[in-house]
Amino acid sequence: MKITFPHMGNTYICAKALLDDLGIEYLIPPFNSKKTLEIGTKYAPEFACLPLKINLGNFLQAYEMGADTILITGGCGPCRFGYYGEMHREILRDIGCEMDVITLEWPDKGAGEFLHRIRKLTGKLNPYRILKAVREAATTAMQADDLERLANRVRPRELQRGTTDRIYKAFLNLVKKADGSAGIKKLIRDTAGELLSIETDMDFRPLRVGIVGEIYSTIDPYTNLNISSRLGSMGIEADRRVTVSGWIIEHMIKKALRLPRDLSYADAAKPYLGAMIGGHAQETVGHTVMYARDGYDGVIQIYPLTCMPEIVAQSILPSVEKDFDIPVLTLIMDEMTGEAGYQTRLEAFGDLLKKRRERGVYGKTVALSGG
Ligand code: SF4
Repeated sequence: MKITFPHMGNTYICAKALLDDLGIEYLIPPFNSKKTLEIGTKYAPEFACLPLKINLGNFLQAYEMGADTILITGGCGPCRFGYYGEMHREILRDIGCEMDVITLEWPDKGAGEFLHRIRKLTGKLNPYRILKAVREAATTAMQADDLERLANRVRPRELQRGTTDRIYKAFLNLVKKADGSAGIKKLIRDTAGELLSIETDMDFRPLRVGIVGEIYSTIDPYTNLNISSRLGSMGIEADRRVTVSGWIIEHMIKKALRLPRDLSYADAAKPYLGAMIGGHAQETVGHTVMYARDGYDGVIQIYPLTCMPEIVAQSILPSVEKDFDIPVLTLIMDEMTGEAGYQTRLEAFGDLLKKRRERGVYGKTVALSGG
C-alpha cells in the first residue's frame, strides 16, 4: 500500500509528520500547479468546485508516481464537500485508475467504523503509538501555522523585498526531506529564527487585512495566487483565522472526542447568519465581524466559483460592511482567473485602504514585537 493525499496549503506538512511517525509508506504529490489543475479539469465535471478539480489532479499525478491509496478528510456536510470522497472514487474508477480511498472523518456509524479505517492504515500498530503520532501531527500543524503567521507579519515590514518569501519557500521545500514530526519541528524553529533575523522597519505600521472565505481557496497559495505574499509586498499584513491546525483540532479531534469547540465565530455571525449552512460561510461572516471589532483595515473574501455557502456569505457581507464601516473585497477563483486582473483588484483595494487611513479612518495597528 502506498498512500497519497491531496494538497491544501501546508496540510502536507501535518500528513507527512503523521505518516513518518507511524512508519507508513507514502508519496507527496507534486505541489499544486497549472499542470495539476489541467489534469483535474480534464476529468472532473465542468461545474465541480475548483478544489475537487485540483485534488483530482493531485491524485492522478501521485498515481503516475506509484501511489495506490488516497487518504482524505471530510465525508459529510451540507455542501458538495459531503460527497467529494465518493465523487473522486467514481471518477478515478471511470478512467481506469484503481485507487482505494480512505476517509479520515468521524463517521455516522461511530467509533467502530472510524477505528476500522485507522486499522486499514496502520495495521496492527500499537494504539499508544498511533495516539502519540496523532498528537505530534496536530502540534506540528499548529507550529507550521504559527510560522506562516510569522512570515505574514514580517513580510510587509522587511527592508529587502522578497527576503521573507525566499526563506519561507525554501522551508516548504526542505520540509519534504525532514524526518518525522521531530525533524519538521526543528526545521520550523530554525526557519522562525531566520525570519526573525530579517532586517525590518520596526516603526512601520502596515495596513491589516483579514482573509475570509472558503477554506481551500483561502489556505492554498496556488489557488489564491499567493495572496499573503502579494499583500505583503504591497506593505499590507494579511491574517487568516481558518487554518489547517484549527481545522484538525476543532473539526476532527474535538468532534471525535466530543469536546467543546471554539464557536466564537458563530456568536459573532449570529445576528446575520444564525445557522451552519455548509462550508465555512458562518466563519466568513463571523470572522469579518471579529476583524472589524479588532480594528482591521479591511477584509478580503475568497471563494471558488459556484461555491454555494460562500455565495450566501457574500450576499450578507454588505450588511456587515455597512454596520462596522469596514471595506470588504470579494475575489472569486476558477481555472480562468487571470493574474493581471487579480493583482489590479488587490492594488485598487490597497489604495482604498490607504486613502481611508490618510483620511483618519484607522484600523488598530500593532508592532511586529506585539505578539
Ligand atoms: S465549500 Fe464550496 S468549494 Fe468547498 S465543497 Fe462546498 S461548495 Fe465546493
